[in-house]
Amino acid sequence: MKYISTRGGVEPLSFLDAVMMGLAADGGLLLPERIPVVTGAQLAAWEKLSYPELAARIFSLYIEDEIPAAELERMIAASCAAFDQPQVVAPLVQTGAIHILELFHGPTLAFKDVALQFLGHLFAWILSRRREKLNILGATSGDTGSAAIYGLRGKENINIFIIHPHGRVSPVQERQMTSVLDDNVFNIAVEGSFDDGQRIVKEIFADLDFKLRHHLGAVNSINWARVMAQIVYYFAAWLQLPATAREKVEIVVPSGNFGNIFAGYLAKKMGLPLKRLVLASNSNNILYHFITSGVYQRDTVVPTWSPSMDIQVASNFERYFYYLMGEDAGEVRRQFSRLDQTGRITVTGAEQQRVQEDFAAGYADNDSTLATIAAFQAETGYLLDPHTAAGVKVARERQAASREKLTSICLATAHPAKFPAAVARATGISPPVPPALQGLEQRPTRMTVLPATTPAVKEFIAAKLAAREPG
Ligand SMILES: *Cc1c(COP(=O)(O)O)cnc(C)c1O
Repeated sequence: MKYISTRGGVEPLSFLDAVMMGLAADGGLLLPERIPVVTGAQLAAWEKLSYPELAARIFSLYIEDEIPAAELERMIAASCAAFDQPQVVAPLVQTGAIHILELFHGPTLAFKDVALQFLGHLFAWILSRRREKLNILGATSGDTGSAAIYGLRGKENINIFIIHPHGRVSPVQERQMTSVLDDNVFNIAVEGSFDDGQRIVKEIFADLDFKLRHHLGAVNSINWARVMAQIVYYFAAWLQLPATAREKVEIVVPSGNFGNIFAGYLAKKMGLPLKRLVLASNSNNILYHFITSGVYQRDTVVPTWSPSMDIQVASNFERYFYYLMGEDAGEVRRQFSRLDQTGRITVTGAEQQRVQEDFAAGYADNDSTLATIAAFQAETGYLLDPHTAAGVKVARERQAASREKLTSICLATAHPAKFPAAVARATGISPPVPPALQGLEQRPTRMTVLPATTPAVKEFIAAKLAAREPG
């Protein structure tokens, strides 16, 4: 399988090169040149597979023979072993009229673990074969940073530097990151905001000489391997439904950067019989507006109870837009340069109709997020985190408004114990602390506090790398 850019400016790449490139060199995003199709007979044959077996089937459609089967299976098994139930990974739980796909049983209790555990093993395998090194640099406001650290801790030929704003991430998130003491993990707390951290990362990547000399790379949500890894649980969710509930299935996805739901779109395109994908936003609802009105417009971000969905632009949206434009890279280029100039894209009526054949959307503001957590707990006894609650709110609205009987699967993207303040405020209940978070306060931690300047961070990275590789 070859990989191409949404903007058409990259020579077709192998899977392994696409993973190492991350963002396409022409500023676009990488996609497989065609979407493999899964037939009804194949799907039926996948019924009895464990999660790791299912992942191996799906990945090999995109990787073909670039990774020997036994090696791929070893990497998948090692990734799944980081989850509470390695053979299941993502259990489907029925609560009243809604099925919840629990994606939070990994080491940092959020769905990003599913892809980042695999990406860590994949990077390590590629680097050792190519005798290369990779130093990951990223800025985090919480979630992605800890999932990336857990994915890459202890891996050969990789170091990871994660910048967070000192004292401005939640205490649980800070401790999750800083209590990882592997020699290849460096937590940098800058005396500034999340935006300062992002600016520093951007400035360091813009210094191409520094970037190349220190083998710097990123692990953000635009890496193709992360999207690919997320396709699997859409199939796993559908296969866990009782056979009688497999028609008129909608999967509801709490969304920020459009990475998770885009994987669902690919699953549908591959042949998974879903009626629709339903996007759930919080008050930062540019994607809701796009799906319902055909206008994609940048906006300012307001803080909410579901911080991992607080986004201004959706970095994976361009991948979907490429298909909406009929795989016309020239049109994607033109529309995205218009977005740069005017801050908005408007699609035609016919295009909007196509969007709505695949997607529906809704959103939950802060009050309705907390109200949903409270009502769902009272009715079913199940505690939702605020991200998942946005999805459940939207699923209930759709069920109430639909004349036919829908099967709704809501993706649970985080464990409620990760957001205890919101859950307690909504319900008066402190979510039970899962083993991954137990004793977090007592664990030793390591981080370096630096001024929020690019030279200070560069100097730190250079010094640490020099110390790790004498000579
Ligand atoms: C990252 C994240 C999201 C948003 O996922 P996208 O792929 O960016 O749409 C939703 N919920 C939680 C808990 C997250 O960590």
